Amino acid sequence: MKISHIEHIGIAVESIEKVLPYFENVLGLKCYNIEEVADQKVKTAFLKCGEVKLELLEPTSPESTIAKYIEKHGQGMHHMAFCIEDGVANALAEAESAGIRLIDKAPRQGAEQLHIAFLHPKSTVGILTELCEH
Ligand code: ZN
Repeated sequence: MKISHIEHIGIAVESIEKVLPYFENVLGLKCYNIEEVADQKVKTAFLKCGEVKLELLEPTSPESTIAKYIEKHGQGMHHMAFCIEDGVANALAEAESAGIRLIDKAPRQGAEQLHIAFLHPKSTVGILTELCEH
């Protein structure tokens, strides 16, 4: 696969509203988009930090994987997303043939109209890894 850059870093938070003043006022980053991804049961807020974005993830239901993550680990860094130049489907096939455990067998629609797929942290040095393309 061909990675061009880190697209974003996902951060699990209990409440976007509560943590936004830290990111905006203390770190001086700008939130430019808040959207809900209904099928993942999360609300997302995006902030720009140079080329990289921060994606704040707030659960909208106790069944959300983000809610379960916070329950287990507390708030904090949740995943890292790489921008794939030669396609997520292709990258998934490559990862699978290298013996990497996949969470998604095929790309799906994520926030910001990205095509996304996740690799399992058990196979990726403990870092939940998102592959994405525009
Ligand atoms: Zn993400």
